[in-house]
Amino acid sequence: MAGESVVRIGLLLPDLLGTYGDCGNAEVLHRRLAWRDIPAAVVALPLGTAIPASLDVYLLGGGEDSAQTLAADALTRQPGLLRAVDRGAPVLAVCAGLQLLGQQFTVDYGRPRPGAGLLDLVTTAATHRAIGEVITQPEPGPLSEPLTGFENHQGHTELGPAARPLGRVIRGVGNGTGFDGIVQGRVIGTYLHGPVLARNPELADLLLSWVIGRPLSPVELVGLTDLRRQRLARYHRRQSWNDFRR
Ligand code: GLN
Repeated sequence: MAGESVVRIGLLLPDLLGTYGDCGNAEVLHRRLAWRDIPAAVVALPLGTAIPASLDVYLLGGGEDSAQTLAADALTRQPGLLRAVDRGAPVLAVCAGLQLLGQQFTVDYGRPRPGAGLLDLVTTAATHRAIGEVITQPEPGPLSEPLTGFENHQGHTELGPAARPLGRVIRGVGNGTGFDGIVQGRVIGTYLHGPVLARNPELADLLLSWVIGRPLSPVELVGLTDLRRQRLARYHRRQSWNDFRR
């Protein structure tokens, strides 16, 4: 946390990338820090704002095709996020945010567009739109709890050798390869909206542990634990990834 006492949570382009409540991920991080008596501030960085490289954690949400294209152009013009990632700042990118941080993406069957090049992934247009609930099982690593969220996208995302997936899809589509998302260094990407950090506290606390430099004390929210259990039980019974295959 670079010796600073207040954790600064960068909310990138909230005016473009806020579909399905993804800006709530900033609120979740803020709140989970407050519960540990750690002061924090959300720094909103709308279009036209310079992106500082000095923030503690960065969040990008999803967005419609046109908003995603604008956001990609804005991010490729600015070095701030790249510099932050180079010094190990954690980043969470959801859906359009994941796609535009890659090498290349295609929206609406148009021509491929360059991404910000931070992540070793390429997204092409899938033949069908993926809409619905997703459950994934995290790949071996620091996460153990299933991840849940909602997807609405037309991306087919292939990871390169520098990246590994965040989870294996149990239900839904995710990247369209049987996996969802990406982990590359301290950058995590996923197709899960929700906001994903509200629905998956273990993921929120993983990002925060990277920010703080140590594991955080546990916080148990009784209602949330029950809700997660109900959702998982309900959706586990339904489709598998094979039912969605394109
Ligand atoms: N525009 C992108 C797509 O449809 C991302 C959508 C989203 O962020 N939900 O694939």
